[in-house]
Amino acid sequence: MLEEKMIREFDIIIIGAGPAGLVAALYAARSVRSCIIIDKLGLGGQVVVTDIIENYPGFKKISGQDLAQKLVDHVMAYDVPIEIKEVQRIVNKGKRKIIVTDGIEYSGKTVIIATGTKPKKLMITGGQEFIGKGISYCALCDAQFFKGGTVAVVGGGDRAVKEAIYLSRLVKKVYVIHRRDSLRAEKTLQKKAFQMKNIKFLWSTDVISVNGSKKVESLTLNRKNTEEQQLTLNVNGVFVYIGVTPCTEVFEVEKDKQGFIKVDGEMMTSIKGIFAAGDCAVHNRDRPWGQISISIGEGAKAAI
Ligand code: NAP
Repeated sequence: MLEEKMIREFDIIIIGAGPAGLVAALYAARSVRSCIIIDKLGLGGQVVVTDIIENYPGFKKISGQDLAQKLVDHVMAYDVPIEIKEVQRIVNKGKRKIIVTDGIEYSGKTVIIATGTKPKKLMITGGQEFIGKGISYCALCDAQFFKGGTVAVVGGGDRAVKEAIYLSRLVKKVYVIHRRDSLRAEKTLQKKAFQMKNIKFLWSTDVISVNGSKKVESLTLNRKNTEEQQLTLNVNGVFVYIGVTPCTEVFEVEKDKQGFIKVDGEMMTSIKGIFAAGDCAVHNRDRPWGQISISIGEGAKAAI
């Protein structure tokens, strides 16, 4: 006998429990639509692993964990069910969309994809081998292992500079290794980082390899604008912030070259009834905004 999969029915199914997904759920629940949030990991998204946020309106300074908790509490007040499941695919059955996970299927009139992004990996010699052995993608999670040591941060965007500032409070020395001679990060962050005595910037520098026996011991660098091009830098750890890629592989909707889901002005994807919001979505732009306040707005827009 064929095993029948359980199907649960909702008006709106939200995939992803970061800021965009949580706010979409809040708006859906307040308009008395039945809805559910499905996330493969947990609640809060990337915000949870952000140390301090200083540009979220209404809070001069708030920790990522506190902000995520406030958003979750707000949604919970409307009894929105939240389930930890990995979505395998969406089957478009016209008026209903079937969300397939391992075990349960969910049927929704509409779906909002808010799965966010994941960090780009350092694709160099040693870049995979030393993950968890000195290479980290999360300063908030792993900085404690490097207390008093020397670490490198790779990248020149908001995340690299922000995390370098965080790390500088815990370690002896932070090298920020950036491939160009100017940062992409917002000016306020740059100013703060330049004031930290134990942060040193290595400009126009590529990391060629991560070296060590059992764990990271050094980096081989290529300094593009100096005579002595190859350099060995002794470090205990490397934090990689070289951008993000969208978590959208399983969704068969129109995407751009990098995999971000294309949406229209109402956050609708190429398939009627399937919407996308937050960092996994783009509209008239070649990269997502990467701002919590914008993800929040997009989540609300998609739900409305
Ligand atoms: P990002 O803004 O895309 O910056 C990535 C950085 O890594 C860039 O400086 C880039 O260099 C460099 N890079 C890219 N590929 C590289 C490679 N293969 N090797 C070496 N370096 C490489 O990414 P992000 O900093 O992770 O931020 C992601 C999004 O979140 C952004 O939209 C950001 O604004 C947002 N965010 C905002 C805040 C905030 O406080 N406002 C905090 C965190 C994140 P180039 O500059 O040469 O391209």
